[in-house]
Amino acid sequence: MDTPLPTSPLPTSMPIAGHIDPVVTARDITARADGRVDLLGLPRPRIAEIFAEAGLEPKQAKLRAKQVYHWIYHRGVTDFEAMTDIAKTMRPWLAERFVIGRPEIVVSQHSEDGTRKWLLRTDDGHEFEMVFIPDADRGTLCVSSQVGCTLNCRFCHTGTMRLVRNLTPGEIVGQVMLARDALGEWPKAGQADLAALTDDLVDDEGGYSPDGRLLTNIVMMGMGEPLYNFDNVKGALKLVMDGDGLALSKRRITLSTSGVVPMMEKCGEEIGVNLAVSLHAVTKEVRDEIVPINRKYGIEELLQACADYPGASNSRRITFEYVMLKDKNDTDEHAHELVRLLRQYNLPAKVNLIPFNPWPGAIYECSTPERIRQFSNIIFEAGISAPVRTPRGRDIDAACGQLKTSAQKMSRAELDRLAEEKQAALG
Ligand code: SF4
Repeated sequence: MDTPLPTSPLPTSMPIAGHIDPVVTARDITARADGRVDLLGLPRPRIAEIFAEAGLEPKQAKLRAKQVYHWIYHRGVTDFEAMTDIAKTMRPWLAERFVIGRPEIVVSQHSEDGTRKWLLRTDDGHEFEMVFIPDADRGTLCVSSQVGCTLNCRFCHTGTMRLVRNLTPGEIVGQVMLARDALGEWPKAGQADLAALTDDLVDDEGGYSPDGRLLTNIVMMGMGEPLYNFDNVKGALKLVMDGDGLALSKRRITLSTSGVVPMMEKCGEEIGVNLAVSLHAVTKEVRDEIVPINRKYGIEELLQACADYPGASNSRRITFEYVMLKDKNDTDEHAHELVRLLRQYNLPAKVNLIPFNPWPGAIYECSTPERIRQFSNIIFEAGISAPVRTPRGRDIDAACGQLKTSAQKMSRAELDRLAEEKQAALG
């Protein structure tokens, strides 16, 4: 019965930023030191295959996969012993061979404004971050896609780190599972009726109706560029959106890219979530400096890809993120140019103005509140929504990358050297 499981083929290594995994990383099977296989992050048919490879009859493997999948994603169960509709003799067989993992929590912080932040660790010891931001009408989980980043956006703390590796689908969906654990959002043991009720509340788009849950939205806006880890992000989000999985509507999920133009259409077609773009500047000179991928894919190319984004409409607008940097990108002329560009490409747009949250070693300052207000007014008067994001979790350094790097202080010279290496890699 103890059939060894095949290991998945590893993609080839790529030394520079690209739309295929930049570094070698296991794809669909996370091998554990104890030889057990982590089922988290695997689609249901793959679980059935693995059960069959481990010795179950195909029909039984399919049935067990359906049961286990339900326990994982609907009930948040990590212990096979708690899976009460699986035969008692079967449960130790599963536990000997498989595990349902979670990222390890290294640090957990709770801001006075309700924002929660976690520093997490992968099974092979790499650290990454996740943030939960509760608002009056929603609770948003900011999820990471990579450990570090190949890009080097100059205002971003994560950009000062090297890319260590892509996160696997299990490590990405594991963040959502962990947040639901922490928020106590799984039905408790014996609350089968609640589980059934939850199922009934899933609308035909696969999303929750207003049912009092805290975690209602997901943004792929944490560490890393999600479109440089496309396959794993797609695999994870499919589990999040699956009506038999976490059942969150694609309308409640937003993927944020710095502008990986060749992958944007594919993202809209194959994942179908909302799009956010880290624009941050409206001239080539400034965007080349603060979002260096602009040297590869310029503003016009990027905005055309936004105009072509499948599914974008007035009811599903594209969000343009714009960090407010004093004397860099915050003049009235910049605001007027932003309006002109959004009109030129006829974009169903909203603009998110983000007051810069400085970090140790940052070379920029935040624009003054008065400047930000004036910038917002110009865009708003042109008929485009331009809210100013309220800084959250400042008492816990909730900006991306700050928790991880607080223990990894680099000198200015080291930061500059790393920035040069990354820019050379972009070509
Ligand atoms: S903003 Fe995003 S893409 Fe740019 S360096 Fe930071 S994590 Fe990477």
